[in-house]
Formats: sequence, structure tokens, C-alpha cells
Amino acid sequence: MQMKRIERIHYIETGFSGPACSVQGFTTRHEGVSRAPYNSLNLGTGTLDQPHNVEGNRSLLARAFGITQDTLVTVKQVHGTDILVIDEPNEDYSHFLGLEGDAVITNQSGVMIGVTVADCAPILLLDREKQIIAAVHAGWKGTAARLVSKAVAGMQSLFDCNPADVQAAIGPCIGKCCYEVDTPVRQAFTQNNVPWESCTEHIGIDRWRLDLAAVNRELLIEAGLPASGIQLSDMCVSCQRELFFSYRRDEGETGRQMGFIMLT
Ligand SMILES: [Zn+2]
Repeated sequence: MQMKRIERIHYIETGFSGPACSVQGFTTRHEGVSRAPYNSLNLGTGTLDQPHNVEGNRSLLARAFGITQDTLVTVKQVHGTDILVIDEPNEDYSHFLGLEGDAVITNQSGVMIGVTVADCAPILLLDREKQIIAAVHAGWKGTAARLVSKAVAGMQSLFDCNPADVQAAIGPCIGKCCYEVDTPVRQAFTQNNVPWESCTEHIGIDRWRLDLAAVNRELLIEAGLPASGIQLSDMCVSCQRELFFSYRRDEGETGRQMGFIMLT
């Protein structure tokens, strides 16, 4: 993963192996038009930022990749496990904005799908063979509920993808350095047999540090993805104030960056 700039978008590009059939990456907070505390490329429609600023920012992202804002699809994220599947062209994609869900899968080229985050892990999936992409929003709840595994299973059952062909990129999220969690989080993980011991550090009574990216990497390997096809950002959004929004660090008053992907 490396920093890249296209027009007014500074983002972390994640290249997948093989001939390029998609564009994808993770935005930073740089550029854009939002004012503090949403400064400045806030892409989250669920924030208290001025809606016209968020629209302007989304439009900047879309235009940088040669599309219009109407074909940039995100859903209303609720820390659940519903997945929006877009398997045919739509006249208008804007209605998906109000639909509750935490992941999007599509086979449509020219449609950019994304998830917005400020601590949670944005995860992008690509099956180059079948030309299927997915974007997944994985906070601790989505991770405990194995949302990323559900997305891979959806790619398999709906589009006949082979997990061995699926590549993944786990974008910048809150790092283990800054992510203290307690017993309810541990219970949610262990109830669902989600890796815990290998991805946490016990730091006190009922206190752990959780490595969200590492857990999702393990879930993807369990789902059948080759470890060599999974990329991980090593950046912590909470530590990197200049580059990223962080909900915990900014005590809820902050913007959202986006993990985005589009079949070209
Ligand atoms: Zn950190």
C-alpha cells in the first residue's frame, strides 16, 4: 500500500496482483471542503457535518475516478451483518444510501462501492477471475459476527467465486496500540469462535488490547483466502491524526474516511 494522489484525492492505493481490472484504496482526511472537526475530506453521511460539504467531498472522490456521485454506493452502516448485493445496473443508485447494511458486493463495472470508517476496519475484496468486488465495514461487532466471512460466503454462493481466487486489503483502522476493549467484546468474540487469544493482549482485569485487522485477516484465512493474497495496512488511525479520522480519539466528533473499490 502506498500514498497516491489523483486530482484532489490523497489516498492509500492498494494494488491487487494480476492485470488491473479495478481501482481501489483508502482515503485520507486530506483535501475536501469540510471544516473542523470534520476537516476536511469527510465522506460520512451519518455525521453532523453539513450535508452539502459531505456531498461535495463524495463528488470529489467520484470525479477523481471518472464517475459521478450517483454511482458511488454506500449504505447506512449500523454495525450489523446485512449485505447489499448489486447484480444488475440501476437507473439511480442514490436510494441505497438509506438502506441499512454493513457490506456491499457487486459484479457491476463502473459502480464504486465503499464503506465509511473512523476506527473500524474497511475491507476490500476482489475476485479477478469472476470479476466480483466487495467492501466490508468491520468494527468489533461486525468482526465478532464474522461479517467478512459472510461476505466471502456471499461471493461464493451468489457469484460462484472460489475463495482461493479472492484477494483482500484491510485498510487503516484503530491499531492494537490504541484499542482497549472489555469483557462484552471478549464474550461476543468467543461465543462465535472468533480468534481472540492470538489477536489480543491482556493488559489488566477485564481489559485487553485488540488487533482488529489481525482478527479479520484470520477470518479471511479461515474462509479460504491464501494468506499471500491478504494485504494489511500497518497504520493506526488514532495515532495518525494528520491523516485519519478516529472516533475514539476525537470522542465521536469527527469525519469518516472511506475504503472504496470499483471494477473498471
Ligand atoms: Zn495507535
